[in-house]
Amino acid sequence: MTDIDALIQAIPLPALLIGRDLRILAANADAAAVLGAPSIGGHVAMTLRQPDVLDAIEACRRTGAPSQARHRGDDAGQDANYDVSCTPLDGGVLVCLSDISRAMQTDRMRREFVANVSHELRTPLTALTGFIETLRGPARGDVAASDRFLAIMQDEAARMERLVQDLLSLSRVEGQERQRPKKSVDLGAIAGAVVSALGAVAEAAEVTLSSDLPDAPLYIPGDPDQLRQLCTNLIENAVKYGGQGGRVEVSVTPEAHHPALRGPAAILSVRDNGAGIDPIHIPRLTERFYRIDSHRSRQMGGTGLGLAIVKHIVSRHRGRLAIHSALGEGSEFRVALPMADAP
Ligand code: ADP
Repeated sequence: MTDIDALIQAIPLPALLIGRDLRILAANADAAAVLGAPSIGGHVAMTLRQPDVLDAIEACRRTGAPSQARHRGDDAGQDANYDVSCTPLDGGVLVCLSDISRAMQTDRMRREFVANVSHELRTPLTALTGFIETLRGPARGDVAASDRFLAIMQDEAARMERLVQDLLSLSRVEGQERQRPKKSVDLGAIAGAVVSALGAVAEAAEVTLSSDLPDAPLYIPGDPDQLRQLCTNLIENAVKYGGQGGRVEVSVTPEAHHPALRGPAAILSVRDNGAGIDPIHIPRLTERFYRIDSHRSRQMGGTGLGLAIVKHIVSRHRGRLAIHSALGEGSEFRVALPMADAP
């Protein structure tokens, strides 16, 4: 191996060295993985076919100044994008590719998220603006209409507040995802407290809420506020989607050995006998703003973020979330949380 070959192989990016006659002098294994095996001694256009990339290489060789281009590849059916940097070297050009697909995907997700949030906020905001105009115009002095409109406005403002609260929770949980919770908390006591707190909500929805909790404390390493929120989101959903006349059962049980967690776990199960969920939706339910029926979710005061928050809380606790459901058969949301820190 010549020095130049050894140097190219040592570059931790796909890299090729192009001579002043635009023939490939050397290429490393990463370049071969991205571009297919380049033919050493062959013209660079046989390996890098994209006109922008070839123009950048040619410009760098001609002017002796660095240049950049974007290479669009196809990596196992997925779009792969690379920044190509051309650096003049000894009359030729050193070409390095850096994979920016992940950064582009993150960027797209961020844009989609902002678009979704704006859309969610715009709906109540439009309603509020409309009612304010009506109250200042046609309904001025009409006490009955004012009362009715103010009640709707209060609901819309509450919806905006819930959305902002859920967004803040989501961002907090995401920010802490890598910090494992340290406190030792009794999952049974937390679930019991949430069941009691939601008793009135269940009663108002005409849903029977019952629980089966262990007599002895069931300690797990956890974040008490987040576990309270997890229980609240799952039980509220079961009450909301379980429907009038429904039954919601909450249980906490220890499991000596959970196969996926490879150790003892505490299992929280929230089961309803509502309409159930078509299996095609199940894998996407924990995505932000994913709803099966947006209209129904909004009518129930949902923000579309509840299960996304649950997913992040479970993940911070290194647990597992399983959703079992079939249409017409109700749903069970089962969370397994490790009872001890992994070694
Ligand atoms: P939302 O605020 O809309 O309730 P979530 O993230 O909590 O948002 O839930 C996402 C979607 O999952 C809901 O819109 C609903 O379609 C579905 N879903 C959640 N829990 C249940 C349940 N217990 N039964 C049926 N569908 C459910």
